[in-house]
Amino acid sequence: MRTYAMTGGATGIGAELKRQLLAAGHRVISVDIKEGDVIADLSTAAGRQAAIDGVRALSPEGLDAFIPCAGLPPVAKPFSLIAQVNYFAVVATVEGLRDLLAKKKGNVLFVSSNSAPMIGTADPFVQACLAGDEAAACAMVEGRDGQTAYGGSKRAVTIWMRRHVVEYAAAGIRLNAVAPGITMTPLTDRVLADKEFGPAIKAFGDMVPVGYNAQPVHIANVMRFMLSDEASYLCGSVFFVDGGSDAMLRPDDF
Ligand code: NAD
Repeated sequence: MRTYAMTGGATGIGAELKRQLLAAGHRVISVDIKEGDVIADLSTAAGRQAAIDGVRALSPEGLDAFIPCAGLPPVAKPFSLIAQVNYFAVVATVEGLRDLLAKKKGNVLFVSSNSAPMIGTADPFVQACLAGDEAAACAMVEGRDGQTAYGGSKRAVTIWMRRHVVEYAAAGIRLNAVAPGITMTPLTDRVLADKEFGPAIKAFGDMVPVGYNAQPVHIANVMRFMLSDEASYLCGSVFFVDGGSDAMLRPDDF
């Protein structure tokens, strides 16, 4: 039996992963704003600290893995919330739980997106995130658009993961990321219902090479593998699980 901690386990991809890990006999500590073992609003510094404290209290022996899965869609308002939850909360909780992960030579599975490559690393919002300047990143993104906030936060969190691979590996902790494509969850329902984003996301979903959009189980199956002993040499990897969308858009880049 392994001990996993995760955020965003109440619905969607996180809920399916939690179900699978529990079914395999593992222990899962779930942090969420809605329901879970620890209730915390990850958009705030106080909420992030409550999340860290709550997980620490429940797993003093250490963690086999941490999955910061909570996230907000490009239609969430204000846009600064997207930066706060999708980037700054992820970095804060990973860093806050680092010693617990080191105790068990655990791993972290970040949740990126196939929209991450759509925003450039040089984008000022991405750079403000990577500089750790939450106030600047939030102020900057308010004047931008939801796609920049969402794709940019996912780009930044994936780069943060890659930049910290060597340092964390030296402490026995492996970092990896899954990058899902459109997946039928409450997050996607919100996007589809949006006047501005809905038609675009529907059109993109209709173009997925495999011919259909993912269900949470398609993503969680791969995440469970990435967390397993079979994937113990995985370190710094980004797995696109998107039915071929990224290959369709960027065939020459990998
Ligand atoms: P979801 O809305 O079903 O789940 C998100 C979870 O995050 C929910 O349980 C929600 O309560 C929690 N959450 C949101 N704001 C929070 C806050 N302030 N504090 C604490 N918890 C909070 O969405 P999902 O589609 O399952 O998304 C899971 C992850 O997958 C997200 O990081 C998302 O960006 C990513 N993702 C989703 C898709 C997709 O198409 N659904 C594609 C790529 C990446």
